[in-house]
Amino acid sequence: MKRNRIIGRYSQGLDGPLLVVIGAMHGNEPAGVLALEKVFVMLAEEKVKKPHFEFKGTLLGLIGNLRAFELGKRFIDKDLNRSWSYEMFKEISQQPEDQLNAEQQQIIEIIGVLRDEIEKHPPHQIIVLDLHTTSAHGGIFSLTTDDPISIRMAVELHAPVIKGMLESIQGSSIHFFDGKNMGIPTTAIAFESGQHEDPDSALRAVAAIINCMRTIGCVSANDVENKHDDILINFSKTLPKVSRLIGKYSIRNQGAYKMVPGFKSFDPVSKGQLLAHDGNDAVYCPADGRILMPFYQQLGEDGFFLIEEAGLDNTLRLAAIN
Ligand SMILES: [Zn+2]
Repeated sequence: MKRNRIIGRYSQGLDGPLLVVIGAMHGNEPAGVLALEKVFVMLAEEKVKKPHFEFKGTLLGLIGNLRAFELGKRFIDKDLNRSWSYEMFKEISQQPEDQLNAEQQQIIEIIGVLRDEIEKHPPHQIIVLDLHTTSAHGGIFSLTTDDPISIRMAVELHAPVIKGMLESIQGSSIHFFDGKNMGIPTTAIAFESGQHEDPDSALRAVAAIINCMRTIGCVSANDVENKHDDILINFSKTLPKVSRLIGKYSIRNQGAYKMVPGFKSFDPVSKGQLLAHDGNDAVYCPADGRILMPFYQQLGEDGFFLIEEAGLDNTLRLAAIN
């Protein structure tokens, strides 16, 4: 089905940040798109119900990998969330479109939409919330940069924060939207709202978008219902608040990688435990910890991540009490 990349745009013309929320950066993850559609309806209704309702800044909702989303595939040529690099962007913006792979074309189009928006309504600050889901069940979590705003948003999302992921992968959206690549201070956070097909994943993504709008000051805390916090708190109350990445398994035999069935994100695993088969090779757990994003789908590079619980460090502690 043909779709428009822009799911919606909401602004009352009041000063404030530009909040860019991206769904379906992976084309097989519709929850973020469904959530954005719902949030735009809610915002329109809110203004009718409460005429004094104020929204500062702009919410722009986008489909990430539009072509893959239309086909219901994770990606076409290369994982879009491993393709974000400013160097590469500069290079491909000089090349004719027919020489680019499908995901490079997506990057050119997304940046085009953002530059249009910035040109027409220059914001002081851009916040990018990248919404994802996972093939495994088991938990919600946030990936942040070191930027205090990114960490603050993660704390407000009440979801476990995973540290160290950014160092272990390359080319994610939050690598790109961290700093001044857009010519304006930009910060980003990624939020995983649950399993791909779980209908509650979209509800949790709605709660995440609304919490972010509150955290960065688009809407007043008085206008946000507690239920959005409760949805997120209830789902993650048994999970460790902060974890640190201690290992990652990169798939060697594309198409022939099979996890042992039944693992959920955050399940405890022990050193030496059989976790998967990669072609003919058995894959054993390298250390005691918890498994994250065990891979139960067709396309992708990462078999699983291994994390361990970490204490609330000072940055997080400060963000939590401020
Ligand atoms: Zn994803």
